[in-house]
Parts: sequence; C-alpha cells; structure tokens
Amino acid sequence: SSENSNRLKIAIQKSGRLSEKSLALLKECGIQITTSPNALRAEASNFPLEILFLRDDDIPEYVQDGVADVGIIGENVMLEKGKKLELIDKLGFAKCRLSLAVPRGTTYDDVSFFDGKRIATSYPKILGEYFKEKNVNAEIHMISGSVEIAPSIGLSEGVCDIVSSGSTLLSNGLKEVETVLKSEAVLVANPDFNGEKRKNFEKLLFRMQSVRRSNK
Ligand code: ATP
Ligand code: ZN
Repeated sequence: SSENSNRLKIAIQKSGRLSEKSLALLKECGIQITTSPNALRAEASNFPLEILFLRDDDIPEYVQDGVADVGIIGENVMLEKGKKLELIDKLGFAKCRLSLAVPRGTTYDDVSFFDGKRIATSYPKILGEYFKEKNVNAEIHMISGSVEIAPSIGLSEGVCDIVSSGSTLLSNGLKEVETVLKSEAVLVANPDFNGEKRKNFEKLLFRMQSVRRSNK
C-alpha cells in the first residue's frame, strides 16, 4: 500500500555502544516505539517509521541497497564501509578516535616509523588512505576483532584501532602515537529516496535537530 511505501525505515545498532542513545534520540523526537528484546524490527505507533535493528557494520550496506532509507552509525564505519552514503548530520554521541599504537617500549619519533612495518587493523581503507597521504609504505593486515593483541603474538609491529579512554591499549602494553580519525555517531541516508518518504524524513530530521539544540 502507499502507506507502507511512505514509511521511512531507519537502521540502528541492535546492541552495542550506539544502541541506547540511538533509541533515546528517537524517543526524544516524540516517537513511540515498543521494542521487544529479540525483535529485528519495530514500528512507531505515532509516526510513519519502521526501525530495523542490525549490526553496525551491516548498516552501510543496507542503507546503500535501500533496504533501509537512513541509519545511525559511527563515522569510522561510514568512512570504512560507505560507498554512496549521504552524511546528513553529526549526532554528538559515541565519540571516539581511530589511533595508531605501538608496544610501550618502542622508540617512536614520527609516522615514518611505520614504513615497512606490519599494522593490524579492522580499518584497512581508512588507514590505507591515511598512510598514502603521509607517504608511508606499511603492510596493512586486516583483522576483524581483538586487534590489540596482534603485536604481542608477533603478528604486527603496530595496531590501528578505536580508542576512547586508552585503557584497552594500556592493558595490552601499547601506547597511542597518532590519531588517524576523530569519530562520533552520524546520521546517514540513501541519496536516492524521495516523495512522501523524503518529506517524512525531513520532518524527523527537523525534530532531531531541535532535540540536539535543546540538549546542548
Ligand atoms: P556490532 O555487534 O553491532 O558489530 P561492535 O562491537 O562492532 O558492534 P561497538 O563496540 O558497539 O561495535 O561500537 C559501535 C560504535 O561505537 C563504533 O563503531 C564507534 O563508532 C563507537 N565506539 C566504539 N568504541 C567506543 C568507545 N570506547 N567509546 C565511544 N564510542 C565508541
Ligand atoms: Zn560492529
């Protein structure tokens, strides 16, 4: 029905560091959602909106394919996985950074240290672009989890990973030496949807921006 096709679909993280604040933001926009613990989707009762609960890494793909129209992800994931996403707004939460780190005892002067070294990361694209810009020739090794243990098991001389307090690096005997990217939660959209759906999105966006202003 036309009612269905006008309903905006937003993808948010199912469970993790973005989940609670993504849902809270929607609620602050006056949107009523009844969530049940293991549901993969929910419908707002007072706005033409459907919420899809997904792994954050999968959200760029779903939005690009039009399965969802918009999504909330970290800027780090947008830049690593996004191909044709429209950045709508920064949301001010889930602030963190993507940093390079080396074993604590290492003598480190500048980024040229990484020339000819092996670096473990889950962010090969962002790191590759960073090294290219800095004229560094490093060997990037893609690892999907527990990147910070790579140096201690002899897999690499350094890591590039998400940091907020730095305690994970510390407890793995690493020190942070360069910030590659500063990140926060962002609202992204498929660039190609329009009509009623776009209007509904603009209504939601207007509310989000009002909430953001009054929370500042
Ligand atoms: P999923 O199961 O959905 O794949 P995940 O383990 O990949 O989850 P989380 O650890 O929940 O992801 O992190 C989600 C996003 O939150 C990250 O991509 C990043 O933008 C941000 N983030 C990660 N670590 C921190 C942190 N320590 N502090 C604040 N924000 C963070
Ligand atoms: Zn993830």
